[in-house]
Amino acid sequence: ERIGVAVVGLGKLSLEQIIPALRKTTGVKLAALVSGHPDKARRVAAENNLPADAIYSYEDFDRIARDPRVGIVYIVLPNFLHKEYTIRAFKTGKHVLCEKPMATTVADAEAMIAAGKAANRQLMIAYRCHYEPKNLEAMRRIRSGRYGKPRLVVTDMLRGSDLNDPSDAWRLDMVKSGGGALADMGIYGINGARYLLNEEPVEVRAWEHTDRSDPRFKTVPDLVAWQFRFPSGAIANGSTSFSVGGTMRWDVFCDKARLRGDPGAYYNGNHLEIFSSPDEGEVKIAEVDQFAREMDWMGDVVRGRVPLVSPGEEGLQDMRLMAAILQSTREGGRTVTVDWQYKRAHDP
Ligand code: NAD
Repeated sequence: ERIGVAVVGLGKLSLEQIIPALRKTTGVKLAALVSGHPDKARRVAAENNLPADAIYSYEDFDRIARDPRVGIVYIVLPNFLHKEYTIRAFKTGKHVLCEKPMATTVADAEAMIAAGKAANRQLMIAYRCHYEPKNLEAMRRIRSGRYGKPRLVVTDMLRGSDLNDPSDAWRLDMVKSGGGALADMGIYGINGARYLLNEEPVEVRAWEHTDRSDPRFKTVPDLVAWQFRFPSGAIANGSTSFSVGGTMRWDVFCDKARLRGDPGAYYNGNHLEIFSSPDEGEVKIAEVDQFAREMDWMGDVVRGRVPLVSPGEEGLQDMRLMAAILQSTREGGRTVTVDWQYKRAHDP
């Protein structure tokens, strides 16, 4: 029996990636839609063979508690709404899959984790790269030690943005996004450095450059660059921007090889190359739909078959690191100690 997923928010990601991916999943299936636009919801429901009573508005969302077709609520709303809908979903007794970044503040992220614990339900953060074969392969090769110690990670997650695009308008609002490009794109580099190195940073410093006369950057920082220092001695350099780009790429320099993902965090078409002696070159691995794999994983978490590899705590760690990065930018690049002793429970 496939577990039903209610998709909350029918924006760009839901319509272009998540709902199409739910046609490829094997353990979960689309069961309900939550939207503020009845016409759009009816159209999407019809396209996906959902009955009319599987459409909810934001106001009557809580009725989902009595809908046995739904086991998992997938929050795909602008960041500032993740907390409210995650907590409401837990109150209905459902499990929650929530998009990244999990919230806009550390306090909200903590409240979401507490709500999941109180409801005794699973909270998974949708870190799709944890389910992407090339990132997983890179992670495993680095862990194996075959390239020696990883020493330096470089991540660049950048793209342009457009205030007239409703999908970008809230991302360019500090309160609604929690940090502009850093919260949207930079988080892939923050999370990526952590899973590629299999370590947590102990010190952070960061700088920003933002053209405040550009109407896009009235409230959010634009170009942010940071440095993480890890206990092993490894260093990560990260950058993000909403005015230059676009790329999502990373490099890991180990004693004996360099691993390059360029692009390394796209929806598809990612590359993994190994520069070594002798050169291993491009690693050929079949593409899979990251979103489908991620949602099937959530289904198996609910069934108790697999560990939760991207729990709320994993999302909270990135929220805290983003807060530390922003703090350092405000303090002129001062080193901020971030040694919270967080250790991920399960490797992706
Ligand atoms: P979007 O703006 O395209 O969609 C958001 C939806 O929320 C829209 O349908 C909008 O109508 C609805 N909404 C409901 N209440 C709203 C309100 N008060 N203000 C604004 N919109 C409201 O955004 P998106 O690109 O689909 O992103 C949604 C979430 O998914 C974000 O958290 C984002 O970070 C995340 N995301 C993740 C990935 C990924 O690769 N994992 C990619 C894109 C987006």
